Amino acid sequence: MRIGLTGGIASGKSTVSRFLREAGAFVSDADEAARKVVLPGTPALDGIVAAFGRSLLLPDGMLDRAALGRVVFGDPDKLRQLESILHPAIRGYMKDEMDRAEAESPGRLIVADIPLLYETGQDKAYDGVLVVHVPHGLQVMRLMERNGMDEAEAERRIGLQMSLDEKKRRADWVVDNSGSLEDTRTQIVRWMTELPPA
Ligand code: ADP
Repeated sequence: MRIGLTGGIASGKSTVSRFLREAGAFVSDADEAARKVVLPGTPALDGIVAAFGRSLLLPDGMLDRAALGRVVFGDPDKLRQLESILHPAIRGYMKDEMDRAEAESPGRLIVADIPLLYETGQDKAYDGVLVVHVPHGLQVMRLMERNGMDEAEAERRIGLQMSLDEKKRRADWVVDNSGSLEDTRTQIVRWMTELPPA
């Protein structure tokens, strides 16, 4: 089975992803893939330089992410152009590593950890979606604590994403991460044992 894992900012997706790995799942991480596909020598980095210019390269040949952010900020056409380069590269990278993991150990649970899974319409590509949920107030608190943000900034960042309650409604399975870490770990282990065999 291939399952999508998602949540909202500071809902505990990284925490759950760690518990899944510890319990034996293979987790493909979209954020990590996003970094790998733009390393020097990759087609995506070549595409970005061709589209937006060599000034986006740092002296060591790495992508200057901050500069790229400034180029696309507030320019929907450029952002779309960038996404048309990045998204297929990220999906391809994740598919390759998931295919490899499956070939190496058939029957192993494969999980794709994707922050904007619903927002980017990728939920349909998976056999099911597991959403990490916490109530809104707790999400705000954990984000403020983790990132040292004030409440207004935390609310603003959370407001940019689809709400966790909406993701929960769409989910096939929900992890409630409002309790202790141990409680969440227990839910994950139980969920994995209850999944139908691949
Ligand atoms: P995400 O990956 O969804 O942004 P994290 O897994 O980084 O979220 O969790 C957000 C913050 O909340 C982190 O500081 C993390 O240590 C903390 N956290 C996550 N789950 C719990 C929990 N069950 N109890 C207490 N703190 C938690």
